Amino acid sequence: MSNNICPICNMEANVMFMTGFFAECVKCENCGIFYLEDSISSNMSWKTKACINHYLMINKEDNESKKLIPHFHNNNWEDGIVDNRIIISEHEVLKLLPQTQKETTQKILLNLATRLKYKGNTFITYFSEEDEYLFPVFFIVNDYGKNSLFNQLEETLEDLKENGYVKHVRALGDNQNSYTLTPKGWQTVEIIKNSGKLIADKSRQCFIAMWFDSEMEKAQIMIEKAIHDCKYDAMIISKKEHNNLIVPEILSEIENSKFIIADLTGNRGGVYYEAGYAKGLGKEVILSCRSEDFNDRHFDIAQVNTIRWDTEEELYESLVKRIRETIN
Ligand SMILES: [Zn+2]
Repeated sequence: MSNNICPICNMEANVMFMTGFFAECVKCENCGIFYLEDSISSNMSWKTKACINHYLMINKEDNESKKLIPHFHNNNWEDGIVDNRIIISEHEVLKLLPQTQKETTQKILLNLATRLKYKGNTFITYFSEEDEYLFPVFFIVNDYGKNSLFNQLEETLEDLKENGYVKHVRALGDNQNSYTLTPKGWQTVEIIKNSGKLIADKSRQCFIAMWFDSEMEKAQIMIEKAIHDCKYDAMIISKKEHNNLIVPEILSEIENSKFIIADLTGNRGGVYYEAGYAKGLGKEVILSCRSEDFNDRHFDIAQVNTIRWDTEEELYESLVKRIRETIN
């Protein structure tokens, strides 16, 4: 099933069938680049669509070429990083569904801010089938029939207007209307983003990103010890505890952390992803790497000051020193 319509936002996009996967690769100006497995796209619920849309919106970066490409599926696969793809099951992505009215409003505003990009840019309603493109953006997910979906959209938009987040810009004729975020809407987006930073500022948590392998067990213990000895709390989501890489959980633990330690030994894609995500959030990232892997570090961060270690004791000493110097 290949056409040139983005399956998430219904806009024109570059959709390519991927031989080798039963998936299509979508390159969409709104949503970015992602893979969508046939099994998920053939019968996608509004809930799944809204959650994938939200994942894409909160992970949208200007430089698409550098990041891992999300690959959404509902197969019995282990989630994680494979080559340049981050494998995300429908089950995991559905955890992004907002649970309260307040959370729904916040997530809609984040969606709109990413979609609009800049102040004064507008989105359009048509009072027709074309409005379907807005369902995921507004978390219109409870399908009691077509009419109910349109009614929910209208009501949600009314609600955002009444609360001063969205304003009507102009009537464009033929039932078309354009809307934009108000200054209060943009400000709220700013507050939501900053509140994440505020939590992190007060946080004593340090997220550890590393290769979970038996040969790294001692290194893991020493990293945790260094964090504790500097009076911070270590947060580690190890593969032993979770068979599946829990993507939204990892991302939110990184968000809640004051800083992260990423050990690059073993050159794991996931570690680079987590380090990059933390850096993108403006967090301090302390990098370390065992000597034998030191020269294999990824080009992008090869110039970042990385702790080089041979023994775990050296790693401990260097980490304590670095944490005391750079984290206040
Ligand atoms: Zn799209």
